[in-house]
Amino acid sequence: MEKAFKSLSIFEFQDQFPDDKSCRKYLAEIKWKNGFKCPKCGHTKYCNTKVELSRKCTKCTHTESVTAGTLFHQVKFPILKAFWIVYYLSTNKKGIASTELSRKLELRQKTCWLFKMKVMQAMKSSGKFLLEGNVEVDEFVVGGQEEGVRGRKNDKKKLVVVAIERKGKGVSRAYAKEITASSSKNFKPFFEANISKEANIRTDGWKGYSPLKEEFANLTQEKSGKKGENFNPMHRWIMGFKSWLRGIHHHSKHLRYYLDEYCYRYNRSVMDGAIFESLITRMVKAKPAPYLTIIGY
Ligand SMILES: [Zn+2]
Repeated sequence: MEKAFKSLSIFEFQDQFPDDKSCRKYLAEIKWKNGFKCPKCGHTKYCNTKVELSRKCTKCTHTESVTAGTLFHQVKFPILKAFWIVYYLSTNKKGIASTELSRKLELRQKTCWLFKMKVMQAMKSSGKFLLEGNVEVDEFVVGGQEEGVRGRKNDKKKLVVVAIERKGKGVSRAYAKEITASSSKNFKPFFEANISKEANIRTDGWKGYSPLKEEFANLTQEKSGKKGENFNPMHRWIMGFKSWLRGIHHHSKHLRYYLDEYCYRYNRSVMDGAIFESLITRMVKAKPAPYLTIIGY
């Protein structure tokens, strides 16, 4: 998280998005970038409707609003404020608490919290950019006593598996996921979703990693008592995550979202491009998130 994000200044943001209309126009540009396609019948011809920017299919008469099928769907407050939330989340290096958003935007804290969860959902890895080259994998525990029996979690502890891609002395990218146990059954889908089959993977000597050598031929295990020395960048990454989590988030129940948010921020900080645009685009392309799926963790 050392590097600054390339992002819009507050003046550029205000210039580009002075009102709700400009936000909707921006969403329409992203949504129909490759032309209109009716979600009901697949027809590609449309006419405009009385509602600005909505498009009506000329075959089945289905009317598609600009927010339908996106994470902006049925947001009950002005879309301009929703854009401000995305802006604050994408430009504050460490993110921003919902209480602070509430004060800044004159919205209820819970409203901000829920919308923030939607943004975090959009931060979830698309899984398109697998970790390559030298990759290290380890697990760590969040909450509760940090020691204990390997491979299991208790009620307070949450177990996380993390993979980092090494570059020079540091870490270029990382993915992490909450798991229920340190078993190969849990590791497998995480490896498959996040690490290239050709990567040179290093883990410690834990037996849960051994079965993965079938699929990941370049996986080597090092029995290491001096974990701190051999796995230093990994250790630093985990410490960074933990202090970020303590600093801003208190709902450990939503650890899954926070891991996604942290990895997204971390990985974006080493990539080029603007985080705000990338987030809005992800929100347009993501499936709508009803309240229940968010609190259902
Ligand atoms: Zn249609």
